[in-house]
Amino acid sequence: MTRLPFLANRRLRITLLALMVLLTLVAAAVTHLANVERQSAARLDFSRSPWAIAATEVETLRYGQALELLAYGRRSPEVIEEARRRFDTTWSRVDILKTGPEGRPLLRLPGYPETLAAFDKTLQEQEGLIDRLEAATPEELHAAHKAIDAIIPRLRDAFLMMLTDANYNGLRTSAAHDLLEGRLSFLLTALGSLVVLLFLLLMSEIREARRLLRQSDAMVAVLRDREAELARLHAEATDAQQRAEDANRAKTVFLAHVSHELRTPLHSILGFSETINRESFGPIQPPRYAEYVQYIHQSAEHLSTLVEDLLSLSRIEAKEYTLNEARQDLGAPCRFAADLLRAKAEEAQVTLVLKEPEGPRRVIYAEQRAMRQSVLNLLNNAIKFTPKGGTVTLAWGLNDAGAPQISVTDTGIGISSDDQRVIFDPFFQVDNGLTRQHIGAGLGLPLVKSLMELHGGSVTVQSVPGQGSCFTLTLPKDRLI
Ligand code: ADP
Repeated sequence: MTRLPFLANRRLRITLLALMVLLTLVAAAVTHLANVERQSAARLDFSRSPWAIAATEVETLRYGQALELLAYGRRSPEVIEEARRRFDTTWSRVDILKTGPEGRPLLRLPGYPETLAAFDKTLQEQEGLIDRLEAATPEELHAAHKAIDAIIPRLRDAFLMMLTDANYNGLRTSAAHDLLEGRLSFLLTALGSLVVLLFLLLMSEIREARRLLRQSDAMVAVLRDREAELARLHAEATDAQQRAEDANRAKTVFLAHVSHELRTPLHSILGFSETINRESFGPIQPPRYAEYVQYIHQSAEHLSTLVEDLLSLSRIEAKEYTLNEARQDLGAPCRFAADLLRAKAEEAQVTLVLKEPEGPRRVIYAEQRAMRQSVLNLLNNAIKFTPKGGTVTLAWGLNDAGAPQISVTDTGIGISSDDQRVIFDPFFQVDNGLTRQHIGAGLGLPLVKSLMELHGGSVTVQSVPGQGSCFTLTLPKDRLI
């Protein structure tokens, strides 16, 4: 197919089509109007043809009579004027027969065109005579009358010929033919315009379809590229994940080994420093060493907690920590932690309050060690971050939704809202005066969070700096028995 560059422009194409439609409509309308006129004329002319020829014959007769009067000596100005008027009228009738629509159908009568030509010629020849009628000789006038007289029978013949069946029908056929021709030409014009229009539309649609096809091909190619790219990225990501999991597993194995290796000497340090501290085998000499031994014992305790926390966290992270769940009282971990840290609270001059809930005893299904560890970590922090004279409250029971929960509330230094967002990340410690005074590694809260999540529960914090904090452990409702 030839490519027309202007058809590539959509706007131009639309304008062109609109123009074509308009032109087609105008052409159809004009043809239709012309045909209506032509058809009505054809109908009219056919019915007026006999009258036209008869009227011409009558006029010619009158003209002939006027010439005759003049030839026989009646030369009054009125008669001359009358003859001239008759001449003009006759000639105008001949003109109508020659060129007028009424005369058109008659032209197909045999011999009629010749009659008309002869008539026309005769009138032309008499034009000079009519101009100088006053001076015309009787012979000239007789001759003119004779010439006109010769035409009349030929006109009558034509008239009679027209009235014969065959010719009358012929005329009718010719009128019908005209009608048909008009309608046909209208139909042909309309059809032609329609075909051109359809062809243009079709061409434009084909071009548009091809353009869309090209576009969709390009899109498919782009999608294929993306798909390949995605598959490559997916493979890379899977590979990286596998490597990370391997590394994590290696880390857990390493940590398990290291902590096991650390635990044995740590237990020795703890045991021996405890024995020395108690002065089981006699007083420490010199007494200053007693203080050092206490430091050794405290440091070893801290190291031991750190190693345990690290080990638990990495096990959870490597999904190698399996919960060892059992039925237990919801208040049990609270009492356990309070018993263990009461001395520490007294030392820090912080009041420790245990808020026993009213109503029946609540029993939960959870891991005892994890629950104890979590409450212990929270309580330990609460005592650590509450200045002298403050209060730490341990409470447990069911929340509004009926889920078991434990809360540790203190009147301590509080945590800013920015820090609240990150304290559950491993190794995070708020940089404040109190943190620096206490030993810690920033593993306590992440461990609580992981242990709670293992149970399907959560840990949340609410705190106002300078007023205190409240940490809440919440277990799922179905862990309540
Ligand atoms: P650490 O063992 O260092 O205390 P944690 O993970 O238990 O680590 O706590 C992280 C940090 O959160 C602490 O260093 C402390 O700044 C802040 N924090 C935890 N509990 C409290 C609390 N009750 N009041 C104020 N700050 C707290």
